[in-house]
Amino acid sequence: MPKNFIVIGAGIGGLATALRLAHRGHRVTILEKTDQIGGRNRPLQVGQAHFDSGPTLMMMLDPFKKLFEDIGERMEDHLEIELCDPSYRVFYSDGSRLDGTPNVAQMIQQMQAMGATRDAENYPAFLGKLAGLYHDSIPHFVRKNFLNPLDFAGPKQLGIVLKRKMLSNLAKQIDKEIQDPKLRMLFSFQTMYLGLSPFDAPWVYGVLTYMEYGEGIWYPKGGIIEICNVISRLSQQKGVEIQTNSPVCKIEGSAVVLEDGRRLTADAIICNADLPYAEQALTRQPPRNHAKRRYSCSAFMIYADLDQEVPSILHHNVFFGKNFKGNLDQIFHQRALPDDPAFYVCASSKSEPHRARLGGTSLMVLVPCANLDRPWSQDDHDFLVSKIYERLEKETEFKRECIKEVKTLTPEDWKSQLNLDRGAAFGLSHDFLQSAFFRPSNKSKTNPNLYYVGASTQPGNGLPMVLISAELVEDRMRREGLI
Ligand SMILES: Cc1cc2nc3c(=O)[nH]c(=O)nc-3n(C[C@H](O)[C@H](O)[C@H](O)COP(=O)(O)OP(=O)(O)OC[C@H]3O[C@@H](n4cnc5c(N)ncnc54)[C@H](O)[C@@H]3O)c2cc1C
Repeated sequence: MPKNFIVIGAGIGGLATALRLAHRGHRVTILEKTDQIGGRNRPLQVGQAHFDSGPTLMMMLDPFKKLFEDIGERMEDHLEIELCDPSYRVFYSDGSRLDGTPNVAQMIQQMQAMGATRDAENYPAFLGKLAGLYHDSIPHFVRKNFLNPLDFAGPKQLGIVLKRKMLSNLAKQIDKEIQDPKLRMLFSFQTMYLGLSPFDAPWVYGVLTYMEYGEGIWYPKGGIIEICNVISRLSQQKGVEIQTNSPVCKIEGSAVVLEDGRRLTADAIICNADLPYAEQALTRQPPRNHAKRRYSCSAFMIYADLDQEVPSILHHNVFFGKNFKGNLDQIFHQRALPDDPAFYVCASSKSEPHRARLGGTSLMVLVPCANLDRPWSQDDHDFLVSKIYERLEKETEFKRECIKEVKTLTPEDWKSQLNLDRGAAFGLSHDFLQSAFFRPSNKSKTNPNLYYVGASTQPGNGLPMVLISAELVEDRMRREGLI
């Protein structure tokens, strides 16, 4: 019997869940607060430049392919993707550069050229360890509904944790594997994709480094938003109704109340609005430990429509400051503005020139910064903008006078626009006690009709993880006999 489901939020998690349920023949309505689909993934136009406002890196293709396979389609028939090789250019504060690539021979060559001979020799073995970590952790701790504690802490799982040293500290483990300080930064900064410092992260998150250096970074033609557009199109073909400008203000059992006063009922609700916000604002039943929850960092964003080319940068670029650990300590522990911030620069017009004005560049900058545990001010904004422009002018052809139009996004904007609690752009933190089994479940503990999908439930943040989150919700609903 077809059932009626309501999905709150048209982020990639909400869209993928709706597609999966509609493919099984159920009626699904998505209620989205904003006027666009995509959530953190929304497209943004500034002047003549086009941006993905959040994610820009497509990694770990398997969950993307699986979504299409599970509905009887092939990803290749809907998305045109290309490998970014090199993955990104790294700018070190001493003026040296390195191009990160999944090409092992080229990595070894660059390591030798920078004098890191021992690291070059050890590189294949290092990658092998990361691959082992990846292949053991995904089936046992990521792509799994933990229905009882033994699913997480059974003898097999504990054996894997010990064998792979999964809970040891990531930065310390990298120090053991890699000698060169610049390479240590290169192979550990990826935890920042989860909004987590590598100095506070368990070694299991070395899987992110593996995704980059073992598999590579991909770009879908049309930008990352194209992934959401395709999922949205396919779900609408299967009857999903998407209502934008439809903020939900309350979940009551299997009904939702919208801000415009409507009350809609369903057989179950799947909430894609970020979990800590939803528990407080929509169910009004946050768990007892809510106040103790830890959050990821935030991100200060600059989107510039540039009337110039910037030849020295690639599509993806990483700028490290002088003091990697100091920078992260300022963000995560001192809750101060980083005085010499590391940041990421994306110029998608390098892959698709029509994303910028003729002869121009669409230049996006992401600066990791503290979440709203530290109040944000206009001075913070101005300080970071001037730091970023100074560094870009020093090390690339970028000139601030070539900016035709610019927009910025602050931690406060992440909070007010997308309901991300504390402006934590990557949701709940991924420290050990908020990972895997310990991360909030995709099934509400207080409302049997309510499920969660998205970055702050299991397994976690990032497009592939959120796609797996949709797999897990479908799996749980199936096991419960609901679908
Ligand atoms: C700056 C940045 C860069 C990132 N870079 C990458 C990257 O390169 N690669 C990668 O894989 N991941 C990246 N991520 C992570 C990735 O964007 C997220 O993990 C993913 O998009 C989260 O999807 P989601 O569906 O869980 O939530 P969201 O995208 O947050 O979607 C939730 C939706 O719910 C809606 N909503 C909220 N409240 C309500 C309400 N009351 N009523 C109705 N609707 C509501 C919101 O408007 C939103 O549309 C990045 C994230 C950020 C912020």
